[in-house]
Amino acid sequence: AQERYASIRDKPAEALCGTVISLQMNAGLMADLPSLPSSGAEGVGLFRTELQFLTRNKVPRRGELAALYSRVMDAAGEKRVVFRTLDIGSDKVLPYMKPTEEPNPALGWRAIRVGLDKPGVMRMQLQALIRAANGRPLSVMFPFVAQLEEYTQARDHLLREMDREAALGHVLPETLQIGAMLETPSLAFAPRRFFEECDFISIGGNDLKQFFFAADRENERVRRRYDTLNVSFLTFLEQIVHRCGDTDTPLSFCGEDAGRPVEALCFAAIGLRTLSMRPASIGPVKSLIRRVDLREARAVINEARASGAQSVRPAVMEWLKRQG
Ligand code: PEP
Ligand code: MG
Repeated sequence: AQERYASIRDKPAEALCGTVISLQMNAGLMADLPSLPSSGAEGVGLFRTELQFLTRNKVPRRGELAALYSRVMDAAGEKRVVFRTLDIGSDKVLPYMKPTEEPNPALGWRAIRVGLDKPGVMRMQLQALIRAANGRPLSVMFPFVAQLEEYTQARDHLLREMDREAALGHVLPETLQIGAMLETPSLAFAPRRFFEECDFISIGGNDLKQFFFAADRENERVRRRYDTLNVSFLTFLEQIVHRCGDTDTPLSFCGEDAGRPVEALCFAAIGLRTLSMRPASIGPVKSLIRRVDLREARAVINEARASGAQSVRPAVMEWLKRQG
């Protein structure tokens, strides 16, 4: 399939109207990195760091993690890698973590909540990232932030680790970008200061959608019940685009939906400019974006919205069919 898109691999995802969308890839293993050149991704928009923790029977050592993160950055070369700190807890219980019984694990003690309440592992991971960068640029993103203070507290941990590493004589990253994942609806309504203080924000659409519709992403009976192109959700995403636009905060979308061409097209039409997805999705998404005028797509979406449609999908599909 990758070969089918080889001819556009080194071309930008530029729509007919001239708007260019940055397509990035999601990764989580060293083995994913060869896809960076072969897919034509412009960077790693989301590096999930859970796997190294899940596949062992004890907490990985700092040196081990630093070596791995460094190899990831080596493989990416000039391209940016956004490392997401450990997103774990509740359902994804580490074998060496005391299991906690929770009635609703998805709403429970997970991700940044664990990182802030018991910061030992997160601090170790931040140290490993700083050492891995070793003078190169570093981008760190915190998962599952639900309010401004969680972001500022996590950022303070990172800045404190920067000071400690410097005091220990380690070379600091050339630049440091700190961001948050927006995957709880509450964060979309955070004070303006949240948007100002983030160097970048990435929408975790998988979680954001499950919380927006109150539909468990793991539950087969409900997980496909609500269309991502449902007018309510799309309008919500558009509001996030506007809030980030007001503060000039770079915004991306890194949930699975970014890798579905029609969804990706609609995200671009409502103003998202960076999408991160499975490497195999980059070709198909780019191919579609290059064939359409996003202003027209936006008009189709607005018209469907005004008509009271539940989802804009039928109208967008109809319009795409007319494009040939
Ligand atoms: C998301 O929630 O959309 C996301 C990218 O994170 P994960 O799928 O790892 O929860
Ligand atoms: Mg998530």
